[in-house]
Amino acid sequence: MRPEASAPPYVGRFAPSPTGLLHAGSLVAALASWLDARAHGGRWLVRIEDVDTPRCQPGAAEAILRQLDACGLQPDDPPLWQSARGPAYEAALRQLVEAGTAYPCACSRRDIEAAWAARGRQPERHGELPYPGTCANGLHGRPARAWRLRLPADARVVWHDRRLGAQSQDVAHAVGDFVLRRADGLWAYQLAVVVDDAAQGITHVVRGEDLADNTPRQCLLHQALGLQPPLYLHTPLVLGGNGEKLSKQNGAAPLELDTPQAAVSALRLAATALGLPAGDAATPAGALAGWVPAWRGLYNASPIRDLSR
Ligand code: GLU
Repeated sequence: MRPEASAPPYVGRFAPSPTGLLHAGSLVAALASWLDARAHGGRWLVRIEDVDTPRCQPGAAEAILRQLDACGLQPDDPPLWQSARGPAYEAALRQLVEAGTAYPCACSRRDIEAAWAARGRQPERHGELPYPGTCANGLHGRPARAWRLRLPADARVVWHDRRLGAQSQDVAHAVGDFVLRRADGLWAYQLAVVVDDAAQGITHVVRGEDLADNTPRQCLLHQALGLQPPLYLHTPLVLGGNGEKLSKQNGAAPLELDTPQAAVSALRLAATALGLPAGDAATPAGALAGWVPAWRGLYNASPIRDLSR
């Protein structure tokens, strides 16, 4: 059998958290993931990442889907909603617990700080302290609050990003045994994203660079669950006037896309952030069609033929 005969066909995705509407920064990730899928002749899916329910805004998911539609970015399947995926996350956690690679944890943030303070280390500004491993060998009678992944003895992950190139992170040093299910009972982003990328057959993840340092954790989790990690490409971030990444948290304006002209202007800004020419198309569909070959040239994304069909 020729090696490419077993290569999976391309499946990509855009996975917004409905904590607000799409803004100029999140449209960049949406557009890039769509272009990469189309440039590879692949499929493009949308997943609504509504696991962190206290942060979700009512109606935001539906509004995001309308914004995508106004930009001509229509998913090839109906969106997957993480709020309906509890049983799949539960099964993955059970698999890890049975394998001894997940354990319950009783520590609060304050406990973690106290454990590090006892070793003379203070939290860095804005920085989270890595988990010191207090509960790795048992709860010692304390009540379980969260569940964590037990890292392998060598947790240095070396991976290749299609835009950023060679990357590496020692996950033990950067974050330690990380949370899979939070103390409030909600599923952690890391677990949900890995379980769902696998369930949706995602072969290529294209998302914003702010998520790049989550990738090593996700690679370890794929490995612990016996799954093949996708390929990754992290897109440039759009910065606001203050030089910080545009985000809902720092008040990025939701995109208003109620006319084709407004949608084309928003898409053009996103395209130029990705290094594509703005072009002069008058409709979203025309603009998108023009960027597919340009994207192919930038990111070496040639069509993948699904030889299994
Ligand atoms: N839901 C995440 C976000 O909106 C994206 C997750 C991902 O693409 O892996 O930031």
